[in-house]
Amino acid sequence: MLKETVLEQGEVCDNGGMSSVSMVSDCEICPFLVDQTANDMEVLLQTDRWVVVLDKNQDYLGKSFVTLREHRETLSDLDDIDWSDLHEVVRLLEGAIKRAFGADVVNWECLMNNAVMRRQPTHVHWKVYPRYVGGVSFDGEVFPDDKWPRHREGGKHIVDDTLFARISGKLKDELYGD
Ligand SMILES: [Zn+2]
Repeated sequence: MLKETVLEQGEVCDNGGMSSVSMVSDCEICPFLVDQTANDMEVLLQTDRWVVVLDKNQDYLGKSFVTLREHRETLSDLDDIDWSDLHEVVRLLEGAIKRAFGADVVNWECLMNNAVMRRQPTHVHWKVYPRYVGGVSFDGEVFPDDKWPRHREGGKHIVDDTLFARISGKLKDELYGD
């Protein structure tokens, strides 16, 4: 089992993306990872193990997904490198969000309940919700946080392509020190 895992990781490194070997059929997330690159506008950060994608639904300004690039179904399945890599992602992303938009705190959530509800395999990912006491404005758009300190379940704030690009660009500037 260990040998198999090492081989899969080697293949991921070779092609710079998901290997077809580690894709799991019926997983809703695996197909999104194929052909995804750090140059995609919605991709904020990509490490060997994780990819950070800005959510089109900006119900919390800077809301993102942090997804394991290889299919693993539970947090218990993560290895030491996954965790240390995640620690670096948390440090970089939280810092960028706070500097870019002044978030007061960043909430991390790992549920994966929808996949279970649909009887599909779970694929480890985190939802990242920056929170702003009193709300926040960016580029003339207001992002209220009216349920603070509770969670705004199912909130929708779809931003247009121009604003999405500006939010993504601002976070990338902070991440890459522009
Ligand atoms: Zn998957």
